[in-house]
Amino acid sequence: MRHDRRSASRPPRRLFRSLAAALAFLAAGCAGGPPTEAPRTVAQRPAAEQRAGDRSHEQLVAQFGGAYRGPVAAYVNELGRRLAAVSEQPQGPWTFTVLDNPTVNAFALPGGYVYVTRGLIALANDEAELAGVIGHEIGHVTAGHGAQRQTRSTIAQIGVLAAVIGAAAAGLDGPALDAVGQMGSAVGAGVIASYSRAQEFEADLLGVRYLSRAGLDPFAQADFLESMKAQTALSTRLAGGAYDPTRVDFFASHPATADRAREAVRAARLEAGARPGEGARNRDRFLSAIDGMTFGDSRAHGFVRGRRFVHPELRFAFSAPEGFTIMNASTQVAARGPRDAALVFDGGTDPGGPLDAYVARVWAAGISRQARTGPLQGLERTRIGGMEAATAFLPIDTGRGVRIAQLTAIRTGDGRVYRFLGLSNRDDAAMRAALDRAARGFERLSAAEAARLQPWRIRVVTVRPGETAESLAARTPFDRARVERFRVMNGLAPGAQPRPGDRVKLVVE
Ligand SMILES: [Zn+2]
Repeated sequence: MRHDRRSASRPPRRLFRSLAAALAFLAAGCAGGPPTEAPRTVAQRPAAEQRAGDRSHEQLVAQFGGAYRGPVAAYVNELGRRLAAVSEQPQGPWTFTVLDNPTVNAFALPGGYVYVTRGLIALANDEAELAGVIGHEIGHVTAGHGAQRQTRSTIAQIGVLAAVIGAAAAGLDGPALDAVGQMGSAVGAGVIASYSRAQEFEADLLGVRYLSRAGLDPFAQADFLESMKAQTALSTRLAGGAYDPTRVDFFASHPATADRAREAVRAARLEAGARPGEGARNRDRFLSAIDGMTFGDSRAHGFVRGRRFVHPELRFAFSAPEGFTIMNASTQVAARGPRDAALVFDGGTDPGGPLDAYVARVWAAGISRQARTGPLQGLERTRIGGMEAATAFLPIDTGRGVRIAQLTAIRTGDGRVYRFLGLSNRDDAAMRAALDRAARGFERLSAAEAARLQPWRIRVVTVRPGETAESLAARTPFDRARVERFRVMNGLAPGAQPRPGDRVKLVVE
């Protein structure tokens, strides 16, 4: 059962903590556990390490959706600086970036680059919890963990992934689409080759050290790990293959040990000599800083709303066929459907010239260089939503049977061309018809329609007498599990109720 951590002074939390601490002590006493000696840190970063980070930073930010601006970025920067100032590398340089990415993740690059996603910030419940994650990432830097891996390969691996996505666009097979689904995850993008268990424990120890030195509650780290566990459990239960932009990728980049939270409590006692209840939480300050922050997919990346994908900035929309699940990756939208069918959508600068020539000589020719294909068939010019378009299909021998790639290119007249690549089994006429309808349903949005499409946001509200988790959750736009999501997001145990006067986070449309 999860504890209720909404107020530092409440008895249940103390009970949990002392119990957890006792369990941690027992575990430490009998299970051996990870190394207990003080972590080694580096006071002066090697110049090569600094250069490696400098080289990778901008590309990495772009890969994860860009930097999120606004008050919360300034807040994270200030908090990060406070923690870095009490680290072994106070002179830095340090760069703290909030990534405009809905997943729950954080990572660091050598050279003092620390990243947290806005999805992670949305899950935290106070400043100390967020500081626990930032402190952990600072710890990976000060302990030189990043340098122990091949930083140089970081960007190379991103290149490899781009190639995999090229293969997915060519419609090769399922694993390639899985890779597309992984986009935006640190492990998927090869940014973090994942740390060893010993390195994770070192980073936890260093994180609680910085929390404690900064006057924040070092036990917060364990609380946040509990929240991530609860979020993971909820999205796994809800998943069933469904797209969940708020999934937790943190444990992929920072492997979960048997019980990270319990070890973090142990770390707090070992490293900071801390006792529960000491140290600030700064909950109000934190909540005020995140009030109004975007939640889920952002306007700049387009939103998945059920089977529909809408892009308010590029002003278009389309719907995937019935039974498809849409994944919004950084450079494309991929959807997977029944019977191994798939739909990959992307767009780019208009190559100019007749579109049917583009489909035949550029697009299909490119696929034929990557895969064994039959001759291009059914090439024709058409109009979709009043726009110039061209379609064709191409048999692809995947080595596991012949599949049909349906190619549709649409010229929107604003200097861009959009492409749909449908993929289905050769004998699946119904699926081919459904994929064709999806591509032909592509539509431009008017400026007014686009302006109405706004991302979801975090709103911090004060609970009024008579309000319950159920009544508050009813105000959120999720299509299911509203109450569970509300509780997980607010660190409430199953069945627990917020109390009048509490400030809670709501997701609003
Ligand atoms: Zn880590």
